[in-house]
Formats: sequence, C-alpha cells, structure tokens
Amino acid sequence: MSNLACDDYRYVIVGGGNAGVSAAQAIREIDKESPLIMISDERDLPYRRPMLTKNFSLIDSSDPYAMHPSKWYSDLNITMIHDRVLSIYPSTHSLALSSGKSLSFGSLILAVGAKCFIPPFKGVSGSNVVSIRKTDDVRKLVELLKNANSAAVIGGGVLGMEAAWEIRRMGKTVHVIEASSSLMKRNLDNDASEMLLRQAENNGVDIILNGKTSSIEASGIVLEDGRNVACDVVIISCGIRPDVTLAEDAGIVVERAIVVDDHMRTNLLDIYACGDCAQFNGFSAGIWPVAGAMGKIAGCNAAGTDAVYSPKAYAVMMNALGTGLYSAGSIASENLVFETVQNDSFWARMFFSSGEFCGFIMIGDTKKAFSLSPLLERKASKDEVLAIVC
Ligand SMILES: Cc1cc2nc3c(=O)[nH]c(=O)nc-3n(C[C@H](O)[C@H](O)[C@H](O)COP(=O)(O)OP(=O)(O)OC[C@H]3O[C@@H](n4cnc5c(N)ncnc54)[C@H](O)[C@@H]3O)c2cc1C
Repeated sequence: MSNLACDDYRYVIVGGGNAGVSAAQAIREIDKESPLIMISDERDLPYRRPMLTKNFSLIDSSDPYAMHPSKWYSDLNITMIHDRVLSIYPSTHSLALSSGKSLSFGSLILAVGAKCFIPPFKGVSGSNVVSIRKTDDVRKLVELLKNANSAAVIGGGVLGMEAAWEIRRMGKTVHVIEASSSLMKRNLDNDASEMLLRQAENNGVDIILNGKTSSIEASGIVLEDGRNVACDVVIISCGIRPDVTLAEDAGIVVERAIVVDDHMRTNLLDIYACGDCAQFNGFSAGIWPVAGAMGKIAGCNAAGTDAVYSPKAYAVMMNALGTGLYSAGSIASENLVFETVQNDSFWARMFFSSGEFCGFIMIGDTKKAFSLSPLLERKASKDEVLAIVC
C-alpha cells in the first residue's frame, strides 16, 4: 500500500474492477497530471474477474489474472491503495477509509461492483460453502477442494457451469443443482438446453433439474422434495446484487442499483457511478464489457469532456463442458421462426422476426458466431445469415 502524500485528490475512484480501471484510463487520456487515486478493498491488483471460474489453477500465480502490472499504474501516475471506503460525505466532498484516513475529492467515481446473491438456505454460512466473486473466494475453494472428493454447485447458469467444469477437470465428482426445469432458460431454447444437458452428463457433470435447495449440511445438500445430494463442498452460484450500501448511506438515489444518467452522473454533483453497481434506463447488466464501457464514460465526464453512454446488446458466451456456447439477441418469443444448421463442428439455430435476423444460439465450435453477431444489429435477411453459417 502506498503512503498518501496528500489527502486532496482531483479524482477519487472507489473500486478496482474493470469499471474503475477503465475510468482511470479514460481520465488519464484527457488529464495526465491531476492527482488520481484508486481505492480497492481487495489485496490483489485489479484483475480479470471473469477468469475466476475459468481457470482455478492460475490462482496460485503472483497477481493472478491481473489486468495490468503495477508499473502500468505508476506510469500513468495513478495512486493505487488497498483500503476500504467506509463513508462518503457529499457536502464536504470527502470520504473516510477503514484505515482511519480521510481524503477529499473533486470528482468521485463509484465503481464498487456487486456481491453474490446468497439465498436464505439453512446452512449457507457453513465452512464447506463458497460463492465466487473475488480471488480470495477461489483461494478458499481451491483449499477446500484439496481435501474433497466431490462438490455441488447450486445454480446452473454460465458461472455455475464453468465452476462445475473446473472442478470436474480436477477429477472430482460434481453435481449442478438447478431450480428450474431446464438449463439456462433465458439464453437457450428447449432443444439447446437439452443438448447442453447431454454435453454436461457425457463429460461427467451430473445435472439435477427442478432441484430446490432446502438446506446445506456438512454431508451435502437436502432438496425440498427430500432428495439428498452428498458432497464435500458447496458452491452457491445464484446471481448477483449490486453493491449499493455506500451510495445509499450518502444519500445517492438507488433503485436495484445506483441510478445514473447517460453521462454516468448520480443525483449528486460530482459523483458518478459505473459498472455492476450502476443502473442505466432501469437496467443493470452485470457483465464485463458493460462495466468497461460505463467506466470509460464516467472517467471522460469526470475529466470534463462530454461523453454519452449508449447501451449495446451483448452475447452470453461459455467455454466449458468440452464445448463452446454462444447466445445472442431474442430467442424466446413465440412469434419467431427459426432455421437450424448442424454439421460436424457446431449446431446453430437462427431466429427471425418478420424475416429479420433477431437472435441465435450456437453450440460447439462458436467461431462463426463472431461473424453472425454484426448481422443482428442490422437485422439481416435469412439468405445473408445462412450464407455465413452454411
Ligand atoms: C466468477 C465470475 C465470472 C464472470 N464471467 C463473466 C464472463 O464470462 N463474461 C462477462 O461479460 N462477465 C462476467 N462476469 C461479470 C464481470 O466480471 C463483472 O460484470 C465485472 O467484473 C464488473 O466490474 P466492476 O468494475 O463493475 O465491479 P467489480 O469487478 O465487482 O469491482 C468492484 C471492486 O470494488 C471493490 N469495492 C467494493 N466496495 C468497496 C469499498 N467500499 N472500498 C473499496 N473498494 C470497494 C470490490 O471489492 C471490487 O474489487 C463474471 C463475474 C464473476 C464473479
């Protein structure tokens, strides 16, 4: 941790995730000199959070998954401290840290992210239970797995499936408990969901559908219908909740997340928010590229330029269970027609609304998905789409 030479900063960024780092970078592209501090309550350098469920083995490296080496911050004259902001005092443009220090800001950017949602099951605070949001969570999980033969993941979304696959790759028995009747209902239609289920089971991951958790015990999970899932370790993967406490206590308007306008401004002068902690147009995306895009807009506006945020549609991607998966756009409405293409490399289903390309799902080798995605934005015709896929 660096010593604070002064307690007065032109820019203060709270949170060292993708939103915070993108905001700092955007500021430095405009203003190379003014004092800028980034405060992170994690001990590691800012890192690629999505990697947490994609490669457990890298957790033992120094600066695991780091976005930039420490030199990047010093070269850009960004002061990075590892501390926790306890309170914000908007009227005096100041804040208090858990180390006892306080500092003042010209502009404040809140990039405090989100927390895992932990349903109120009996036994969630057991020593065999982990949820994955931070590097320290993966450290704890890897330690627990050293003495475990089996694990169960509660939640069959992308993160849950990725975590299950990492555990399976370590040679352990693994179950995924999904409360609904199919996997990834929001991103897959019934056929794709069924295919993913088969892919999981063929690769040794046991999927339990309609599995509503009643309690977590030292010996495993008890479901509401009485089934028991024996396991040594439990991972809870049931979504996220934006971290809004700091903002709420400071009098910043919060709904599901911190409410921002298209400049990432909150309701309070000189205070911005971005990333997983922020909501724009009533929506909080909770994904990496959106956090980066919002951070950039917040940084530009804090540094005095006029940057406007324009949300884009992003795809859901997964590389796990020995396959790739890509889902983008609308795939669920009953009024859609679809075309399916299957070959040795992939299965793809393209959806059309009134003849215009509106969504697709691809399972297997998903390279072609990157050529298909731009066609969604311009609502291409069926012939154009099939020419790429076939
Ligand atoms: C396991 C996992 C896998 C994921 N996979 C994908 C994926 O494949 N694709 C994708 O698009 N997205 C993925 N995501 C989501 C993506 O990682 C997030 O959307 C993104 O990291 C959010 O960035 P952020 O900067 O808004 O918040 P965060 O990355 O959460 O950073 C916020 C930081 O602020 C710190 N902080 C909070 N309060 C304080 C305080 N009071 N004082 C100081 N510091 C504080 C937090 O500790 C944290 O370090 C994944 C997320 C997880 C957890």
